[in-house]
Amino acid sequence: MMIAKLSAVRSTCLAFPVGAVIVKHRQILATGYNGSPPGSPHCTAQGFCYEGLQKCTDNNLPSRSIHAEANAIAQAAKHGIRTEGAAIYVTLEPCLACLKLIISAGIKEVFYETLFNTGDRVTVRDFFVNDGLVTLKPIQISVAAAVQAADFLVNPTSISKD
Ligand SMILES: [Zn+2]
Ligand SMILES: [Zn+2]
Repeated sequence: MMIAKLSAVRSTCLAFPVGAVIVKHRQILATGYNGSPPGSPHCTAQGFCYEGLQKCTDNNLPSRSIHAEANAIAQAAKHGIRTEGAAIYVTLEPCLACLKLIISAGIKEVFYETLFNTGDRVTVRDFFVNDGLVTLKPIQISVAAAVQAADFLVNPTSISKD
């Protein structure tokens, strides 16, 4: 989850910073973050998602972004990496489109930090979970791990601590 959070630092959409990491046998297969398609201007670079609007989500406009999970799965596909039986760590609970993609990619476990789905989307999500297609589990990184990481980020990392 730590690396998913670090991936989210690279998000280029103003609406939701999201990071994702696909892991199998404790090894990272791919990472992704929320951002506009390659070649399309980044929301963060132009200062808006749509001209005159702060965020993609204002006015119920569709997001211009490719979601972090989709980017991670696409990255694996581009490099010919098998995602069958893998797990995904993501900073936001996957939307239904991403959850379907996760299931379709053979990813069996989802660990997320923040809840996202509400209303009817919960019903559909729970169908998938109850049918045994995927598991979803909320997790948080510990304060101790976060403090250590912050120390590594703020200071030179590879120095002797004695
Ligand atoms: Zn955006
Ligand atoms: Zn999504």
